[in-house]
Amino acid sequence: MAEKDHLPPGTLQATLLERAAQARRCGAIQSLPTTREVIEQNGIPFQVRILESLAIKQSAKASPSTVNPFLPYDPDLFVAPISPTHLALLNKFNVVEHHLLIVTRVFEDQQCQLTQKDCEAFLIGLTEIDGLAFYNAGPEAGASQSHKHLQLMPLHHALAPLPIDRLLCFPQADGMVGAAPGLPFPHACAPMDPDWINPEKNSGASLHASYRKLLRAVGLSVDPTAGSHMPTAPYNFLITRKWMLLVPRSRECFEGISINALAFAGAFLVRDKQQLETLRRFGPMTALQYVTEGRVSPNESGRRSK
Ligand code: AMP
Repeated sequence: MAEKDHLPPGTLQATLLERAAQARRCGAIQSLPTTREVIEQNGIPFQVRILESLAIKQSAKASPSTVNPFLPYDPDLFVAPISPTHLALLNKFNVVEHHLLIVTRVFEDQQCQLTQKDCEAFLIGLTEIDGLAFYNAGPEAGASQSHKHLQLMPLHHALAPLPIDRLLCFPQADGMVGAAPGLPFPHACAPMDPDWINPEKNSGASLHASYRKLLRAVGLSVDPTAGSHMPTAPYNFLITRKWMLLVPRSRECFEGISINALAFAGAFLVRDKQQLETLRRFGPMTALQYVTEGRVSPNESGRRSK
């Protein structure tokens, strides 16, 4: 499929469905089968997906870290041009259907600060698809690839409602950065301005300014230059049409369970039943605290608060 510069407005959803069906038919997508459980802690019904043994074998075959899977990408996974700087691809090893990766056309490092162009791409994605957009900044934030990739998951039945949604209610969209009382780990959040999900408003610069406010609010250093490619410390950045959340990270794993942005939305992925039991014993919220603060020892924090 030829790479155009821009996405024709209003076409991403239909193109995604069509390209995903085609990729499945030709075997380009290798979905990882999972079963699902719910573990509640602090009143939040965390979703936990457990990889089936077949999936573990499949994921073991995933691209080695020395190969860049996004440059060149597999043409069977191409979905659409997002902007002159970004392309949408299908996630080859998806757990949730229609998981999009929005990658930079030229190599940029995943640990670099997001640019205004990245924020424009995020907003184009969210305007076209009501979903959860997220960014895992670096390996300690759960990223497995070093080529810059934003991600977007449609909020269909498999993911909605996001378990964390209920903690991120803002009385008004006043753009104020704050903290959600129900989230017991370092973070900063803000309401999303509904005007930004309007293609005519071209709000990449506004989202970029908010993103940098969130970085500052959690104490991460920010290069004030709009096009900066400065590396940052690891963090997860999550955006929906209603809110934004940024969480600084100190480590990737809790008791061997790799944690990325999705876990902060309330959706964990574990490799097997043993990891499921570990999460049940300590509690998902405890796991999130551990990988942000990195101070609480899992053994000390094993007593769960319901
Ligand atoms: P992350 O692990 O958050 O850095 O996201 C990278 C995603 O890329 C993972 O979810 C992988 O499933 C996906 N992936 C790995 N190899 C490929 C590939 N060759 N084409 C498309 N997606 C891939």
